[in-house]
Amino acid sequence: MKNLTERDKKHLWHPLTQHKINSDMLGIVKAKGVILYDEHGSEYIDGIASWYTSMFGHCNEYILEKVQKQMEVLDQVVFSGFTHEPAVRLSEELIKILPSNQQKIFFSDNGSTATEVGIKMALQYHFNQGNRQKVLLAFEEGFHGDTFGAMSVSGLSVYNGPFEDYFIEVERIPTPTKKNIGDILFQLTERLKQNDIAGFIYEPLVQGAAAMKMHDAEGLNMILDLLKKHEVLLIADEVMTGFGKTGKYFASDHIPVKPDIICLSKALTVGLMPMGVTSCTQQVYDAFYSTDISKGLFHGHTYTANPLACVAALAGIELLQSEQIQKDIQRVIESHQEFGLKIKEHPKVAEIRQCGIIFALDLNIKMERYGSLRDRLFNFFMEHGLFLRPLGNTIYILAPYIITDTQLKQIYDTIELALDTVISDLP
Ligand SMILES: *Cc1c(COP(=O)(O)O)cnc(C)c1O
Repeated sequence: MKNLTERDKKHLWHPLTQHKINSDMLGIVKAKGVILYDEHGSEYIDGIASWYTSMFGHCNEYILEKVQKQMEVLDQVVFSGFTHEPAVRLSEELIKILPSNQQKIFFSDNGSTATEVGIKMALQYHFNQGNRQKVLLAFEEGFHGDTFGAMSVSGLSVYNGPFEDYFIEVERIPTPTKKNIGDILFQLTERLKQNDIAGFIYEPLVQGAAAMKMHDAEGLNMILDLLKKHEVLLIADEVMTGFGKTGKYFASDHIPVKPDIICLSKALTVGLMPMGVTSCTQQVYDAFYSTDISKGLFHGHTYTANPLACVAALAGIELLQSEQIQKDIQRVIESHQEFGLKIKEHPKVAEIRQCGIIFALDLNIKMERYGSLRDRLFNFFMEHGLFLRPLGNTIYILAPYIITDTQLKQIYDTIELALDTVISDLP
């Protein structure tokens, strides 16, 4: 019998993969808590919570039990014309923890569709009122997903060449620093005079795909404040930052000016089910509320508000609010701070940064985003039982909240060892 890696090659086409260069996919057979198990019996600490989803650990028994119970009662039903307890309750629980101006919850299937819906809400909000705003504003190096609208607003679409001719109209601004904020505000003020900007989509505080690039909350607040005064809808893409990663429930909780629209996914359904949510204010909703059918938001996915996904999300929200998890989050934050103080002195480290439980360090050597050096680093981590995905010369940690101190130390020690060995002989 061939192993998974060999069988995989026959029919499978993987995401973000050039198969001629990267042909071997590792077979994972089991996951529990913070550990992934491969088909050869090796174990790996999941240092990025499987793309920021499994924040309460894999196969979390509390979550599994809730979903199993739901499975026996109601598995799936059309959400157009019908409703159900898990969706109603999830809307109630989300509204309780989201920024207080959020009033309505729209379900979709993943992070890309959550931002796609956010973009459509912003464009149609103006269209419904007979306005001519149709340009979107976005950060340089932002990432919002891989569907067309989401791709269009993503500045980081390095490999999107074939589609660029079909993108919606987007203009980009740099992320704010203490130095450039004056310029940004001046140029925006000029630009806003044309009165054609419909919305601004942004990843608040941390740009995940841009290698955990972090920006100034105060500067962001000034940008949001200016845009809000000009009726530009603010779309916070919290697909990555949501549900506790920045130390608060949402990154927008760190910023006084609140978004009109918030996009959620990833940790929303705690690594168990795919689902997306786009929340919005009453004001946004009201622009669609009409006796005219065509003013409605005609967007919908077959699995919208799947009851099992809703129950997984409800269990996650319950855990997030628990005293134990809040303590864990503080513990991980402090642990990273301590590691940061130590590692920033390392001769191979150019910069460290941290926002909540998200920790990143830049090496002071040049590396391609998906180059061979980056692969060497990745392989080194895997050989040492650690799953991390360096982005270019950035190594970042975004582990499940429930990671133990011993496992954290194992991550830190392995990173240090990498700096002292694979990286040390490089110029
Ligand atoms: C991952 C991500 C997306 C896309 O989500 P998918 O579920 O992969 O489609 C969008 N925005 C941000 C900020 C993300 O991190």
